[in-house]
Amino acid sequence: MLNFDTIIIGGGASGCMCGLSCSASNIAIIDNNNKIAKKLLITGNGRCNLTNLKMKSKFFNQDNSLYLDRYNVSSTLDFFASLGLMTFSDEENRVYPISNSAKSVVNVIENAINKSNINVFLEHCVEKIEKEGDNFIITTNKESFTCNNLVLATGKSELLDCLKIEYKNFMPSLCALKTNSTRGLSNIRLRDVKVEACVNGKSISDIGEVLFKDSGLSGIAIFNISSLFAREGKFDGKVTIDMLPKEDTESLIKMLQKRKTLNCLVRQFFDGMFVKEVAYEIFNRCKIDENKPSIRITDQEIENFAHTIKSLDFTVKGYYPNNQVFSGGIKLSDLDENLQHKQIKNLYFCGEICDIDGQCGGYNLQWAWTSGHIVGNALNSNIGGKK
Ligand SMILES: Cc1cc2nc3c(=O)[nH]c(=O)nc-3n(C[C@H](O)[C@H](O)[C@H](O)COP(=O)(O)OP(=O)(O)OC[C@H]3O[C@@H](n4cnc5c(N)ncnc54)[C@H](O)[C@@H]3O)c2cc1C
Repeated sequence: MLNFDTIIIGGGASGCMCGLSCSASNIAIIDNNNKIAKKLLITGNGRCNLTNLKMKSKFFNQDNSLYLDRYNVSSTLDFFASLGLMTFSDEENRVYPISNSAKSVVNVIENAINKSNINVFLEHCVEKIEKEGDNFIITTNKESFTCNNLVLATGKSELLDCLKIEYKNFMPSLCALKTNSTRGLSNIRLRDVKVEACVNGKSISDIGEVLFKDSGLSGIAIFNISSLFAREGKFDGKVTIDMLPKEDTESLIKMLQKRKTLNCLVRQFFDGMFVKEVAYEIFNRCKIDENKPSIRITDQEIENFAHTIKSLDFTVKGYYPNNQVFSGGIKLSDLDENLQHKQIKNLYFCGEICDIDGQCGGYNLQWAWTSGHIVGNALNSNIGGKK
């Protein structure tokens, strides 16, 4: 049995930040991967969008400003700069490594961990956690460990059940949605559209890109609104797409009335405005004869067009398992200001295992850095460290 003052289970974003923020000499990270911070390699499409300059708690499922204020974006940027990582931000305030490669982020974290006195146990899958007196006993597929302070930085995990801790069910979030058939629109991409979802009388909206699948919707705007389904615990409801959000219905109707004088057939009516697939979706929904002359389109039909363009609706029937985060986890109300469990002393949580989930755009990784730092720093005072 190996003994440490502090053990961090999970060597991902938050676990590594926690370890690097803690100056304890007798500390270990246990991770089931073969490489530290491995998941970061797939973040941001391989570019790792590590934070966002526009960081506000309104971009998360609940108010986490108490924590964000203590370790904010500039602290994160200073931290990474101190590790030698150069970054830039794009027009949407998303921060990436200047190399545009997530490998750079993983490399600097790995270098820092190697230089620190953190003991790293890779390819160790934690199977059981028990509490014996003041100590935690951790059993992996290879070894047993004990410690006084335990940090859970695993993301979604069944390990919480070992400790009989209450938590909100984990649900996939930031994912593509399964819907009724969208086959006619398959592979079509709409940019700068407004999407809105309604579940249990609650609604959420976002403006951005939508990508149609065979029977579903993907794209960043869809990922962002999928969080409402996750937080409400059910993937059924409605999604509506406003394909021309800058146009109000009245001006759109006037514009469509004018197009009647294009003197074409109905099937050519949207040429120059929408791709054919979108135009046919509108014709199908409006049940209009595509072969009649545009001049014979009635006022009612123009209104139907406008309504369809402003609210192309789909029924949500589930999600695709490509989620970027899980919503749910340990409730913040069960944790103190240092993310220590209020009932189980010396048990800390950081990252996605906490009931905090944010939008796409660097928010989730900022939560990982913030929460990891807060726990690491709290451990310093707990064990008399000094960082
Ligand atoms: C495809 C994809 C793209 C993403 N892109 C972005 C992005 O660009 N920007 C952004 O902000 N967020 C992004 N995210 C979300 C972000 O990666 C997570 O929010 C963040 O990694 C959470 O950090 P964490 O430390 O809580 O968990 P993780 O980074 O998931 O780390 C948890 C670690 O614990 C280990 N572990 C779990 N269970 C055990 C066990 N039983 N025993 C031992 N080890 C265990 C895992 O192997 C893992 O290494 C993306 C996610 C995905 C999936």
